[in-house]
Amino acid sequence: MKRLVVLGAGESGVGTALLGKEKGYEVFVSDKGKIKEKYKEVLIHNEIEWEDQQHTEAKILNADVVMKSPGIPDKVPIVKALLEKSIPVISEIEFASQFTGATIVAITGSNGKTTTSMLTHHLLKQELNVGLAGNIGDSFAKQVLEHNYDNYVLEISSFQLDGCFNFNPKIAVITNIVPDHLDRYDYKFENYIASKFRIAQNQTKDDYLIYDADDEVISDYLKKHPIQSTLLPFSLTKTIENGAYLNNENIIITINNNKIIMPTKNIALEGKHNIKNAMAASTVAHLLKIRKQTIRESLENFQGVEHRLEQVLKINKVQYINDSKATNVNATYFALESMDAPTVWIVGGVDKGNDYTELFQFVNEKVKAIICLGKDNVKLMQNFSSMVDIIVETEYMSEAVKIAYKIAESGDNVLLSPACASFDLFENYEDRGRQFKDAVRNL
Ligand code: ADP
Repeated sequence: MKRLVVLGAGESGVGTALLGKEKGYEVFVSDKGKIKEKYKEVLIHNEIEWEDQQHTEAKILNADVVMKSPGIPDKVPIVKALLEKSIPVISEIEFASQFTGATIVAITGSNGKTTTSMLTHHLLKQELNVGLAGNIGDSFAKQVLEHNYDNYVLEISSFQLDGCFNFNPKIAVITNIVPDHLDRYDYKFENYIASKFRIAQNQTKDDYLIYDADDEVISDYLKKHPIQSTLLPFSLTKTIENGAYLNNENIIITINNNKIIMPTKNIALEGKHNIKNAMAASTVAHLLKIRKQTIRESLENFQGVEHRLEQVLKINKVQYINDSKATNVNATYFALESMDAPTVWIVGGVDKGNDYTELFQFVNEKVKAIICLGKDNVKLMQNFSSMVDIIVETEYMSEAVKIAYKIAESGDNVLLSPACASFDLFENYEDRGRQFKDAVRNL
């Protein structure tokens, strides 16, 4: 019997353990932290051996294969020891993909993964039997075990890709690449870029890579590292012969001379970045032969994802918008770009080495007041004080929203788009977004 060790008992770890057991592995789950009760119950119920708050090295180093959860860095001692012994350390995506013959659409990128994955799933599910997994909802492994989908849309992070070796999606999407999570990549951007491109590492010309042709990081990489996949770029700025581009108010998608045209006018999602996401998702749908009419209707009725430029409420003709998921400058760039009215901007949190320069133009043009919401606002103050008449600081969401309410006038927007991580004042970005919405509703 082959021995599978699962490091980390979260959603992907427990899913892998269940799938491994079903496939005949002897499974041992080990978590250095405390395993959540709901996952403990599943492990016990399924008679899977586990430990928490420790790693029993002798047992772990006895594995034939180890599934490492994405949150565990390579530099922790137990992973180093495994790698020294040349024991394969893989990700859940790598493990689970061995056990399904489904057509896989894998979506990665620095920003836009969740939106594009959910939108793609929304387009495909109208006509295909398709699951949605990866960083979203139930783990991929659990779904492979419990469902019989013919297709999957997978949202995949670079940490999951680091543990992929044979994984080969029929269709890969890279939404964009900007510096992020560099602490896990020896502070080298090129390592992070290479990690993203692992999504296409096993592709042949029969497989497809859909990517943003306006993203210089991606184009440069492709110039220097020719890959086997059939390339289907998308662009907002130039004509694309095989792939997708924007022509006035229409998205034009051509695949092997088969062209479809989608009007953008009625797409429910706002912002240029969402036109890009729509181009990526529609290209996938066109490849998988979803009817044009279905794509068009589905683009129109997809209402977006919570905490991503989410329209919360209109009060006294002021629109309140929750973009709490904007945890980096690039995401906030697109939020500000999409603002079509004077904006009171709530920003701040844990700075990840942010360079705010790219926001200057939009702040000058559109932002009438800034509310810094964080423990350390020095950098925001230095960057933006001279650009707006009003800039204030607070550590409370309810206060931030009340100040915004006082400043905003009829026709304005109030935008929470922090450009920073949330853990100085909040549990996570969801908590931050929910507190914003509660505060708005209490106005
Ligand atoms: P991810 O799953 O990659 O974090 P999300 O879809 O959750 O991406 O969006 C994260 C943030 O980035 C949100 O603020 C969202 O409005 C913004 N965003 C969405 N799509 C894009 C894109 N294509 N380019 C840049 N920013 C984007």
